[in-house]
Amino acid sequence: MARRTPGLVGADLENLVNEAALLAARHNRDKISMDELEEGIERVMAGPERKSRLINDHEKRIIAYHETGHAIVAKVLPGSDPVHKISIIPRGHAALGYTLQLPEEDRFLMSKSELMNRIAVLLSGRVSEEIVFNDVTSGAANDLERATQTARQMVTQLGMSETIGLVKLGNKREEIFLGRDISEDRNYSEEVAYKIDQEVKAIIDACYERAKEILTQRRALMDKIAGVLLEREVIDAEEFERLMSEETAQEIPEVRIDKLPDNNHDFLA
Ligand code: ZN
Repeated sequence: MARRTPGLVGADLENLVNEAALLAARHNRDKISMDELEEGIERVMAGPERKSRLINDHEKRIIAYHETGHAIVAKVLPGSDPVHKISIIPRGHAALGYTLQLPEEDRFLMSKSELMNRIAVLLSGRVSEEIVFNDVTSGAANDLERATQTARQMVTQLGMSETIGLVKLGNKREEIFLGRDISEDRNYSEEVAYKIDQEVKAIIDACYERAKEILTQRRALMDKIAGVLLEREVIDAEEFERLMSEETAQEIPEVRIDKLPDNNHDFLA
């Protein structure tokens, strides 16, 4: 359970067990089973299932390919958290589908290449839509926000951009009385601000290209997994592994590592 609930605080865990207890009662059980705890995790992380939300077939197809894109790139890129579940059952207020990745252990350091891979995984939902439908939707807004945030952090806080160098830019000022609002004092010039934006864009572009390369080479696999997802709505870790291992037999070229950024050392995060 601990491994499946990274980042949850005590109150979240309490909530999770409460949800699981309610489900167990609904199933007429006198003990909470792992099934109910699993559903509890997803309820706490993404909100309750909303099967009543009607999504038309075309949108369902887009969502299935979007999530398939995330899952495949997460599987292919080294160091990504394993895919625990892919689902196109809507949850909570906003999630139309989701790919749940869970870390195998707590991590305290992230290398530059791992952060780049994480950004590529975030962008791969959008990339998948583009490859399959030749058009893109508003569904990637949250992915893009998180990808941009990570890239910006790499450039301004973690010294991972050669152009900007080993400087920390901007002072974070937490305004506690305004809740979680974090504003930033700018301690750099317009010229540096412009360079930061360019570096952020360069990182995003490079990660986007990697995701595109990975998915373009695996179009048949995308069709297969998205097809299974459309039929069953949920793919668990085991099924996903099976679908992915069938493809390894087809001799798909390895992802080229030379596209990785050149300094691959670990950094304090
Ligand atoms: Zn997404």
